[in-house]
Amino acid sequence: MNIIVCIKQVPGTTDVKISEKTNTLVREGVESIINPFDVYAIEEAIRIKEKIGGKVTILSMGPPQAKEAIKEAIAMGADDGILLSDRAFAGSDTWATSYTLSMGIKKISAYDLIICGKQAIDGDTAQVGPGIAESLGLPFVAYVRKIEEIKEGYIRCERMMEEGYEAIEMSLPALITVVKEINEPRLPSLKGMMRAKKAEITAWTAQDLNAEPANIGLTGSPTQVVKIFSPPARPGGEMILGEIGEQAEKLVTRLRELKIV
Ligand SMILES: Cc1cc2nc3c(=O)[nH]c(=O)nc-3n(C[C@H](O)[C@H](O)[C@H](O)COP(=O)(O)OP(=O)(O)OC[C@H]3O[C@@H](n4cnc5c(N)ncnc54)[C@H](O)[C@@H]3O)c2cc1C
Repeated sequence: MNIIVCIKQVPGTTDVKISEKTNTLVREGVESIINPFDVYAIEEAIRIKEKIGGKVTILSMGPPQAKEAIKEAIAMGADDGILLSDRAFAGSDTWATSYTLSMGIKKISAYDLIICGKQAIDGDTAQVGPGIAESLGLPFVAYVRKIEEIKEGYIRCERMMEEGYEAIEMSLPALITVVKEINEPRLPSLKGMMRAKKAEITAWTAQDLNAEPANIGLTGSPTQVVKIFSPPARPGGEMILGEIGEQAEKLVTRLRELKIV
């Protein structure tokens, strides 16, 4: 079974700055981590490989530093990794990101299952997984909490719903996005870390992918961020203390002062 796991490197903190000029995240000097939901995707792929055999390939689109994220996945037990990196990919919205990743997957060519996290904790759209499936014309299920059965050409999984779950069967190749309920990710082993250190990460550019220039980066992004800002901090509340009757009296006086009643 050939499994491709799409992982995104995201800032490891919520204390990020937005460039006023480009309306994008300032990533320089910010510690990066693998998008937490993608760690569950990596773990699930490794478990399938351990159970029925196969190969796990990690795919990421991002700046050169995203190689570190791929190496972390290899340390956990993935076999190899590919980074799609090119200045031409900069400014991609979710449509262009999905297109670019799907071109990478087409180039890999041998795949049965693609696993993504349910969403990235920075962009937060949850659009890229379904976007890749649409671009490749594959069946897909989002919010998978359990893979009940998987074999050549067939998968049966449980999709998390607000109350309960749906059991869904699909033919392979297919794409799933996973939620954190699916497993408990392992820590990288010492052997894995040694292997990751030595691993050569393949890097592909837009040209390697034969990507249509009109479909990538800012040019290929039908959506543009017009403005991005943090909401102004709310002024602090006012505490009314005392016995319950006293509190009610003070509250009514205060509301009258404010001309609310
Ligand atoms: C309108 C708009 C404009 C944007 N413009 C810019 C910009 O100019 N510059 C910029 O840096 N960002 C920009 N972004 C953010 C960028 O498009 C998203 O970060 C990216 O498309 C992924 O979307 P997401 O973070 O919402 O991922 P989600 O859709 O929430 O991610 C779901 C899953 O898809 C997979 N995935 C997502 N992204 C990747 C990736 N890069 N590699 C591998 N797997 C991945 C992972 O498995 C992830 O768990 C923009 C976003 C929007 C909506």
